[in-house]
Amino acid sequence: MNKKIISIDQGTTSSRAILFKNDFTLISIEQREFKQSFPNDGWVEHDPNEIWDSVFKVTKRLIEKNNLSPSDIASIGITNQRETTLIWDRETGEAIYPAIVWQDRRTADFCNNLKKDNIEALVQESTGLLIDPYFSASKICWLLDNVQGAREKAKKGKLAFGTVDSFLVWRLTEGKEHKTDVTNASRTMLYNIKENCWDKDLLDLFNIPFSILPEVCENVHDFGTTEIFGGRIGIGGVAGDQQAALIGQCCFKEGEAKSTYGTGCFILLNTGAEIITSENKLLSTIAYKIKGKTTYGIEGSIFIAGSAIQWLRDGLNFFEKASDCEELIKIRNKDSVVLVVPAFTGLGAPHWDPNARGAIYGLTRKSNKADITAATLESIAFQTKDLLDSMQKDGANFIELRIDGGMVENSWFSQCLTDTLDIPVLIPSIKETTALGSAFLAGMHAGLYTDFPFLEKYWSCKKKFNPNLNKGQGLRKKYSEWLQAVEKTKVS
Ligand code: ADP
Repeated sequence: MNKKIISIDQGTTSSRAILFKNDFTLISIEQREFKQSFPNDGWVEHDPNEIWDSVFKVTKRLIEKNNLSPSDIASIGITNQRETTLIWDRETGEAIYPAIVWQDRRTADFCNNLKKDNIEALVQESTGLLIDPYFSASKICWLLDNVQGAREKAKKGKLAFGTVDSFLVWRLTEGKEHKTDVTNASRTMLYNIKENCWDKDLLDLFNIPFSILPEVCENVHDFGTTEIFGGRIGIGGVAGDQQAALIGQCCFKEGEAKSTYGTGCFILLNTGAEIITSENKLLSTIAYKIKGKTTYGIEGSIFIAGSAIQWLRDGLNFFEKASDCEELIKIRNKDSVVLVVPAFTGLGAPHWDPNARGAIYGLTRKSNKADITAATLESIAFQTKDLLDSMQKDGANFIELRIDGGMVENSWFSQCLTDTLDIPVLIPSIKETTALGSAFLAGMHAGLYTDFPFLEKYWSCKKKFNPNLNKGQGLRKKYSEWLQAVEKTKVS
C-alpha cells in the first residue's frame, strides 16, 4: 500500500499539516501561525475560526502541493494543544466565545476556593490531576457562567464542549461527529482515568451537564470521515500533543520518558498499566489506550519554556530571532549569579502556585543581557530537574531522556540540560515527534502495522549529549540557589 498519512498538529502558536509516507518518512510540512490574544492579566484566548481556518488551509495546501487526491491518503491523525476549551452551538457550529487557552489563569480564584473545600483528594483520586486553572473543567464553568444564555442553552442540550481535537473533528466531519480521545479527556479534570468514563460526581460538583460532553474513544479509532477536501478521508487517530510526542518518541516501555521544549515544557513518563499517584504534586494521566488496554503516564508541566525566549526577544528586544540567543550568550559574564524564575503565568508542577509571577535575582552593575539570557535558558533546565527529582521521589528511575521541541535546536541549552540532570539526553532524527505520534496512530488504524513495538525501528538518535561532571557540579549548586529564589516568588 503506497498511501500516505496526514498528521494535523494543532499547536498553541501555529497549526501544521505534515505528510508521511507509509514507512513514516516525512515528505512535506505546511505551517501557519495564528493570533494570540491577551485581553486581561493572565487571560489567553484564541479565535476558534482562526484555529479552524489555519488547520483547513495548511491541510488543503499540503494536499495540493503534493498533487494528492483524497484517495491517496490512508488516514488522517490529529494531535493538538490540550486543555484549551471551546464551547460551540450544535446547530450553527459557531463557538459561543473564543477558545480559552491552557495557559489562561482567569479561574485561579475559582480553583483556590475549590481547594479550600478540600476536594482536591477526590479530584486526584478520580482524574489523576490537581485542581488548577490549567485544566478544562474550571474554564467550562467560566464559559457557562459568563456567556449570556449559555447555561440555559447547555441545559437544553444545544451546546457542545470540546478540546481542540474535538472541535476539529466536528468541523472536519461537518458536525457529524462529537468525539474526543482518552488522552484529551484525561486533561479536562472531569474524566475518571481508572474507570475510563466521565465522572458523574465531578460533573455534579461543577454543575456541568453531561449532554455537552463528547464521546470518548480510544486513540486508534474511527473518528469519522471528512469530505471537505474533495473526497472521503477517514480520521483514524487522535491524541493530545504530549501523549502523541511520547508515542512519536517510541517511549512504549515502562520507565521511558520524553521531554518536549516548545512554548511550555512537558515531561511524560510511561508508567505502564499502573496508575502512579504522585505524592509530589505531579499528574497521573492516560498515555494511550489501544485495543482495550490503557497505558498510564506521570507528567510534569512547566508553563513557560520557549515562551521565555520569546519574551527576551519580543518583550525585551534582546535579539531578533530565538536562535540568536545561542550566539548572544557567548559574551555572558562567566561569574554571573543571575537567576531567573520564569513564573509569568504562575508556577506549574511541582509548586502549583497560580498567583506567583516571574522574577530576576542576583543582578549586579556588571550584569548584561547575555547573563539574563543564559540564566533564562538555565532556568528551563532547572525546572526540568525540579520535575525529574519529584518523579524520582515517586519511584521513577531515569537512565536517559529523549527530548524534542523548538528549543532543542539550541545545543548550549541541550548541554546545560544534560549537565544539570546528570543523565544523557537524546535528540531523535525525526524532530516532528508530535506529528509522528499521531501519524503512527492513524497508520495503525489504516492497517500499516498492528502493534507499537513494530515502530521502534523507526526511532533513531540524531544527537546524544553526555553530562560533563565539572559543569554539572557548578550547575547543581546554582540549582539549589535557584530553588531558594523560587520559594521567594511564591505567594499562595
Ligand atoms: P510550539 O509547538 O509550542 O509552538 P515549538 O516546538 O515550535 O513550539 O518551539 C518553539 C519555541 O522554541 C519558541 O518558544 C521559541 O522561542 C523556542 N526556540 C526556538 N529556537 C530556539 C533556540 N535556538 N534557542 C532557544 N529557544 C528556541
